[in-house]
Amino acid sequence: AVASLNEYLLAKGQRRKVSIISRSAAIRNLHDIMILLGLGADALNPYLLWEVAADFADEDHSWQQVMSNTIQVLQKGMEKVMSTMGIHELGGYGRIFSAIGLSAELVEIFQTTSFCSSKKSGLTFTQLEEMGRHRYARATGGEKQKIHREPPRNPKVGKVLRQAALGSSDYLTMGRELEQAALEMPTGIRHLLDFRNKSPKRKLRLEEVNISVGGHAMPLLIAAMSFGSQGENSFRTYAGAAKAANIICINGEGGEIPDMLGQYRTNRGQQIASGRFGVSMEFLNSADFLEIKIGQGAKPGEGGHLPGSKVTAMVAAARHCKTGTTLISPANHHDIYSIEDLAQIITELKTANPTARVSVKIPVTSGVGTIAVGIAKAGADIVNLSGFEGGTGAAREHAKRHVGLPVEIGVFHAHHALLEAGLRAEVEIWADGGIRSGADVLKMILLGANRVGLGTAALMGIGCISCRRCHLDRCPRGISTQLGTSIEAEARGVKGFRPRDITVEVENLARMLNAIGDEIRHHLAEMSQKRLQDLVGRTDLLVQNRMNNRLDV
Ligand code: SF4
Repeated sequence: AVASLNEYLLAKGQRRKVSIISRSAAIRNLHDIMILLGLGADALNPYLLWEVAADFADEDHSWQQVMSNTIQVLQKGMEKVMSTMGIHELGGYGRIFSAIGLSAELVEIFQTTSFCSSKKSGLTFTQLEEMGRHRYARATGGEKQKIHREPPRNPKVGKVLRQAALGSSDYLTMGRELEQAALEMPTGIRHLLDFRNKSPKRKLRLEEVNISVGGHAMPLLIAAMSFGSQGENSFRTYAGAAKAANIICINGEGGEIPDMLGQYRTNRGQQIASGRFGVSMEFLNSADFLEIKIGQGAKPGEGGHLPGSKVTAMVAAARHCKTGTTLISPANHHDIYSIEDLAQIITELKTANPTARVSVKIPVTSGVGTIAVGIAKAGADIVNLSGFEGGTGAAREHAKRHVGLPVEIGVFHAHHALLEAGLRAEVEIWADGGIRSGADVLKMILLGANRVGLGTAALMGIGCISCRRCHLDRCPRGISTQLGTSIEAEARGVKGFRPRDITVEVENLARMLNAIGDEIRHHLAEMSQKRLQDLVGRTDLLVQNRMNNRLDV
C-alpha cells in the first residue's frame, strides 16, 4: 500500500503536499521499518511492536524506561543502516534495496531490482496473505510462543566437517552428509541446484581428474581472517594447512606475525584494507597475492572493529599500534572513491611487489557486473566476490540477516559482464560466502568462479562449535580469542577452554581441505569431466530441481 500510494501521488504531482503514515501490526523489526521508509512512508506506527515492548515492563523496569530503550535501539539501528549507505538524512533514504524471488506482481509495485524472479515463480500476494493469516492465528491462539525463532545455523555442518578433519569420516561420507544437510535446510541458491550428466556409475578414476589452478593443487582458498580477530594458534593453523594442501590462505587486514613473513609466499595473500594496519614494504613483499579489501559480503558498507581487549602486545606489534587500543577500520578507503583511485592503488602495490597478483575484494551488490568490469579495467588480476552468507560470529546479526546478496548472483553476473566486456580472460574470479562442501565449490565454478573461499568452514574444521561468541573474546576453543591459557580463560569466566594445538590442527584442517578436493574430483568423475578449469561458467551442467515455484534460478 505504501509503495503504490507513493507512486500514485508522485504521478499526480501531489507527493510533496501530503505525508504517508503507516500504522501496522506487521512492522516487527528494524528491517520492516527501513523497507517501509524506503518505499515512501514518512512515519510509522508499529503499534503491536510497542505493545509487545511495553509488556516487558516489570517492578524493576518502568514501561516508560522500556519504551524509551526500545525507541533508542530502533533509532540507533536506523542511523546505522543509513550511515552504512552513506546517507545523512532520512529524507535522502530511498529504494536502495534489491529483492530475491518476488513474483512479477510484487516487482511491479516495489520497482526494485529483483533477482531469480519470473512470471511462474516468486512470492505472491496470495502467499503474503496466507503468511499474515498464519501469524495472526499463532498470535491469537492462546498458546505462549516465541515471537521470532531464529533457525539454528548449520546445525549439522560443523560436526560433519570436523569428522572429516579428524579423519573419522571419508570424503564420500562428508559429501553425502553435507548434501543431506543442504536438502534439509537449504541456505544458499546453490542448494536448489543439482549437477546434470551425473552418473553414480563413475566413469573416470579420481586420479584422472585435474582440479589444479595456477600452480595450486585445488581451487580453494582460506578466506581472509585477521590476526587479532583470530588467536595466534588458529591464525598460524590456517596458513600452515593452506601450505600443506597447496592452496592460498589470505591474511585479513591486521598485519603479519613477524616470523611468518615470507614463510608462505606462494600460498599467502596479504590484505590491505581501509585501516592499512601492518602494511610495510616487507609485508607487501612477503606474499604472491595482495588483496585490496573494499568490502565484505556479510557486512557490506561496514568497516572493521577490533575491541581493545583483543589488542594484545603481539597483535599490536603486527598492526603497528599500541596495546589495548580499540582499532577501527573505516567503512571506506579514504583514498579510493573511483576506479581511477583504485587503479592508482593497484599500480602502487604492483610497484612495491612487481610479481604479486592483485585481488580486489567486494561484497555482492546489485550492479556487481559493472563493478567487476571496472575492477578489471583498473588493472586487478582477481575480482574476489563476497556473498552475504559469510561472516563469523562477529558480524552483526542484522547485517547477516538482511544485508548483501548471495554470492551465486555475484559470480554469475560478474562472469557474464566480464565476458561481454572481453575481459574475462584477463582476471580470475574468486568467490566466498557460506561455502562448505565440494559440491558447493563445483557449483560456484560452474556459475563462473575460478576459485572459491572457505571461511566459517575452516573454523569448523579446527573445532569451532558455532557458539557465536567470537566478538566477546571468550572463544571456548581458543580460535577467535587472544586468551592463551586455561588460567587466563578461567579468569575471564570461560568454562571448558580447549585451545588448539597448531601441529595437530594443521594436519586436521589440511585433511578436511583434501577431502573437499576429493569430493570435487568425485563429482567431476561422475560427470566424465577431466579438467575443472574448463568448466568455469558452464551453467548448462546445472539444473534446478527444488523450490521452482519460489525461485527461478
Ligand atoms: S567456537 Fe564460538 S567463539 Fe569460537 S570461533 Fe566458533 S563461534 Fe566463534
